[in-house]
Amino acid sequence: MEIKELTLSELMEGYTSADNGEKYICVFCGKSFEKEMMYQSRGRYVTGKRAMEEHIIDEHGGVFRGLMSLDKQVSGLSEMQREILCGMYEERDNKDLAEDLGITVATVRTHKFNIQRMKREAKILLACLEQIENDEIVSQRKRLEEGTLKSVFPPMRDMDETKPNIGNSLHPFFTQFTLK
Ligand SMILES: [Zn+2]
Repeated sequence: MEIKELTLSELMEGYTSADNGEKYICVFCGKSFEKEMMYQSRGRYVTGKRAMEEHIIDEHGGVFRGLMSLDKQVSGLSEMQREILCGMYEERDNKDLAEDLGITVATVRTHKFNIQRMKREAKILLACLEQIENDEIVSQRKRLEEGTLKSVFPPMRDMDETKPNIGNSLHPFFTQFTLK
């Protein structure tokens, strides 16, 4: 199972389904549970779904720790970024975390700032790729574009005559949010 083939919600739940939803598969170890079967977990019988949820907690320490245990080659996270994320997960304050990691509070803040920047970049990349790879979105776009091909891609300079279309600018509606 390739992580890039999973949806964000499957990654967030730690499992995916197969065989038309009849089976749940752990994304961290590949263990599977049949939806309609009962399993013994924590000393009693539970459904396949519940067994999977408990498996992820009991075997992988929960989804967050499962994700943290992914190889750096896969997650792209440095050792320090992982330490910072774990600190955030455990709701530790910056001072505490700085002392533990042997860095200054300002450096902890910088790491957190960079993590938020990566989040923004990751979201934009995901949204872009959906426009390219999601068949439903692509065919919906093609339906809407039909017959209007000339106006689909106006030159960038024509999009907003009054101000350059760069940086953080989305529609004015979104200016109430700080896009950072
Ligand atoms: Zn597992």
